[in-house]
Amino acid sequence: MNKSEPRVFSILKIVKDILVENEKFDEETKTLDGHEIIIRANLDLTIDFAKAETYGAKGVGLYRSEYLFKGANKYPSEEEQIENYSKIGKIVGENGVNIRTFDLSIDQLDKEIGDRQSNPALGLRGIRLSLTEKTEFRTQIRAILQASFEHKINIVLPMISSVSEILEAKKIFEEEKQALISKNIKIGDPKIGVMIEVPSMVYLLPAIAHRVDFVSVGTNDLTQYLLAVDRNNSRVADVYESMHPAVLLALKQIHDVCHQYQVPVCICGELAGDPFGALLLLGLGY
Ligand code: PEP
Ligand code: MG
Repeated sequence: MNKSEPRVFSILKIVKDILVENEKFDEETKTLDGHEIIIRANLDLTIDFAKAETYGAKGVGLYRSEYLFKGANKYPSEEEQIENYSKIGKIVGENGVNIRTFDLSIDQLDKEIGDRQSNPALGLRGIRLSLTEKTEFRTQIRAILQASFEHKINIVLPMISSVSEILEAKKIFEEEKQALISKNIKIGDPKIGVMIEVPSMVYLLPAIAHRVDFVSVGTNDLTQYLLAVDRNNSRVADVYESMHPAVLLALKQIHDVCHQYQVPVCICGELAGDPFGALLLLGLGY
């Protein structure tokens, strides 16, 4: 035990170690009073779903579509995307998959522009990049719409920081949907959710509650942006604390507002995959 560590944290760590040691998968993920907790997978590659399923994952809560780039600096074609999204939709089946639109930073696509972004985590990335490169965003939306014809697929928008981004993305979605319908192309009816990972959205939740079908909380980035700590910088790793009181208060507020406005809410950050974090989230009502 680290002597400088407050005792309560040491006890929490011991509880966590016991939980990890006794890790086992029970068919039923229910609380003692019978409340079912749905556990879904975060997926980067379609191939990983089989493993997640053996741990009881029911569907995919977050499919990181940017992994389609596999280091290439060009967007995958509409056909490639339809094929990939249909494949994951088929593998996952009835429990469904939430496809996150590309959460890329411009430096992953264009090295020269990237070099001029002094702070990529706060730069042109996620939905900001999609709304800048609209032709590519439209292609992705069309691919998801078509893949969802035969599969249970929803859309999640990353890095949302203002209401206008949601309105603009939804307008593009509607336009592409109507264009496909007018060409008699078969499409599904994906729901549209947003990631809450930028602190501004914690405050704007009441304003967007009636405009989104669901909310997915990205605790990885929410922690980074709330605590102003780079999640990839090992020098400040001790400041990056997903169970920081401010993060927990934000999580409670998000849950309570979603509950009040009856918007389905789930967690897609790593905190939900931490045995102790999962208990905390359960206690918060997630
Ligand atoms: C998050 O930010 O919590 C999240 C799930 O997304 P990513 O880790 O891909 O940024
Ligand atoms: Mg994120």
